[in-house]
Amino acid sequence: MDGATNGNSNGVRPRLRDGLRRSRTRGPRYSALRLVRHGLTQEDWPLTWHRQPMRPRYDVVIIGGGVHGLATAYYLAANHGIRDVAVLDKSYIGSGGSGRNTAILRSNYLTPEGIRFYDRSVKLYEHLAADLNFNVMFSQRGHLTLAHNDSSLRTMRWRAEVNKLQGVDSEVIDPDEVKRLVPYMDTSPTTRFPILGALYHPPGGVIRHDAVVWGYARAADALGVHIHQDTEVTGIDVVGDRVTGVRTDRGEISTPVVLNCTAGWSTLVSDMAGVSMPVQTFPLQAAVTEPVRPFLDTVVVSGTLHVYVSQTDRGELVFGASVDPFASYSTRGSLEFVEGLAGHVLELMPALSKMRLLRQWSGLCDMTPDFSPIMGVTPVDGFLVDIGWGTYGFKAGPVSGESMAELIATGTTPEIIATFDLARFPEGRLVGEKGAAAVGH
Ligand SMILES: Cc1cc2nc3c(=O)[nH]c(=O)nc-3n(C[C@H](O)[C@H](O)[C@H](O)COP(=O)(O)OP(=O)(O)OC[C@H]3O[C@@H](n4cnc5c(N)ncnc54)[C@H](O)[C@@H]3O)c2cc1C
Repeated sequence: MDGATNGNSNGVRPRLRDGLRRSRTRGPRYSALRLVRHGLTQEDWPLTWHRQPMRPRYDVVIIGGGVHGLATAYYLAANHGIRDVAVLDKSYIGSGGSGRNTAILRSNYLTPEGIRFYDRSVKLYEHLAADLNFNVMFSQRGHLTLAHNDSSLRTMRWRAEVNKLQGVDSEVIDPDEVKRLVPYMDTSPTTRFPILGALYHPPGGVIRHDAVVWGYARAADALGVHIHQDTEVTGIDVVGDRVTGVRTDRGEISTPVVLNCTAGWSTLVSDMAGVSMPVQTFPLQAAVTEPVRPFLDTVVVSGTLHVYVSQTDRGELVFGASVDPFASYSTRGSLEFVEGLAGHVLELMPALSKMRLLRQWSGLCDMTPDFSPIMGVTPVDGFLVDIGWGTYGFKAGPVSGESMAELIATGTTPEIIATFDLARFPEGRLVGEKGAAAVGH
């Protein structure tokens, strides 16, 4: 196999695809009937994915077992019949941002390229539970981005119009409508940050992030993908200008295609191949309260107050903010975050003052200068990247996996990700999404 290379139309990889039937076999199905049977017989459920021996060679090696790495592995196998694939993770799958995020999905971005891309992901998410035979609990409860001043309102109107042109359901609503959707919100004009309106995006919502990771892992495993947890990549071998393999703390693997899906660690891994990325890693914190009875059935975001909130099915409130103000690989929570968060949440919903926070946590975010991802080929043949996911990459898992799998299988960059190439930085073609991605995730 030649691997996906820098050319734009290398053609399909014939050796990989020959004789491989397009299949969506996914192992034992979960169903109500099986649930009853297992309940009655107390039989063990089959393993969701398996520990496999590590081969000395794979057709494709994916570094990073988050939603992006696992989705790519799944679509390689399911859509293109490429099953000789290894996903390597230095820890357990979902241990990075994919298991730490606040699980907001939406497609109401700012640029036409971004909106098209994220909308494809929302569409894939809508069918994911059926596709993977795994309940991912996608709840499309609506997403509100509040405007507290004239310039924010102007940006919301701009976004709403670009969204509509791309066929995405978004509109600007007034404070009375905000109050109707979120009765506990203080919409009075005398508050410190009065609400002038909001961008309302009905298809947005939340999902069970762990289930997405496990669902992709289970389906990829059933199609023959090897998932190697506790396997850290320590080096990437490049001969001339082409990748030839990876070194890990469990031995070496030769391969013509390496895909970097390591988000917060992506610059460290790209450096191993000698490719430098315009990315800085920042911690992002989140927190959750004790559970209370359901009262909030939309996701609420305030860019001005740097805060967002949603309520889980168990009743906990999940809060988040923007990234910490300094680049770091630390995943410690801070008191400053909780203090700022509590103050801002109470500006929006004073009635929450008696609620108690249960816990806080943090994850690493790979921030790009334009708040858009970096996807596709690099100057090293066979070394590809799917990174730069910042604070907003969970929602992009399905479309990224689908497109990166297509690129690897065909050697041609799919149109939907072409704009997110690495070359846009030296060429000055940035895809500015800061106005829609900084706090909203
Ligand atoms: C608190 C928080 C809230 C967020 N909220 C949202 C949200 O609401 N909506 C949204 O869309 N996004 C959100 N995000 C962002 C989102 O979580 C990430 O963009 C996304 O999960 C990235 O997925 P990934 O698969 O690319 O990487 P990750 O899930 O981070 O996986 C990368 C994996 O690479 C592995 N790895 C690293 N180095 C190596 C190595 N050398 N060898 C082997 N393995 C390695 C790591 O162990 C890790 O498991 C949030 C992030 C955080 C931290």
